[in-house]
Amino acid sequence: MRAGVLALQGGVVEHLHMLKKAAEKLSINVELIEVRSKSDLEQVDVLVIPGGESTAIYRLSKRLGLIEPLKEKILEGTPTLGTCAGAAALAKQVVDAQSHKEYEPILGVMDVKVIRNYFGRQRESFEADLNINGIGQFRGIFIRAPVIEPLSSSVEVLAKFKDVTVAARQGNVIATSFHPELTSDTRIHQMLFEMVKK
Ligand code: GLN
Repeated sequence: MRAGVLALQGGVVEHLHMLKKAAEKLSINVELIEVRSKSDLEQVDVLVIPGGESTAIYRLSKRLGLIEPLKEKILEGTPTLGTCAGAAALAKQVVDAQSHKEYEPILGVMDVKVIRNYFGRQRESFEADLNINGIGQFRGIFIRAPVIEPLSSSVEVLAKFKDVTVAARQGNVIATSFHPELTSDTRIHQMLFEMVKK
């Protein structure tokens, strides 16, 4: 099995590490790929779009001609996880919580509205215990985190923090507001591999 992380900007190394650990837990052999080109992308069975800065991820993907190939790869059913800015990259709609500015969607493959920087300045970073559907208790690490608003009934809410959605799934695509790669808990990454097996 080959697991790729979009390696343009953001938490790439952390996700590669988690994918390695998740594969070990499941006793599967995995080859890790840093995705920077169309040919890298073609090889992968599961894909992670890391957190970082969504506008930078957008600019770099566009420059490298990766927008269309990424869309295709995801729409053909590749299990995909987008964390934080990576969640924004997946969304059909992206707005800023403070300025209400609407951004051009990056990949637009998930029926969700991602509201960037939702928790404002005073709570730019925090941790909270979450309860994730199918997983159970999970430590959420939020860094200038967005929230995820489902736009269709095919989006399953996986976790809420207070009254807002912080993890969701639509078919082969999972988005989280928080950073599972900054914990030592590999269960979300394991889900990706388990989706391939099915
Ligand atoms: N606020 C950032 C963005 O929308 C995301 C921050 C993060 O990924 N930790 O680009």
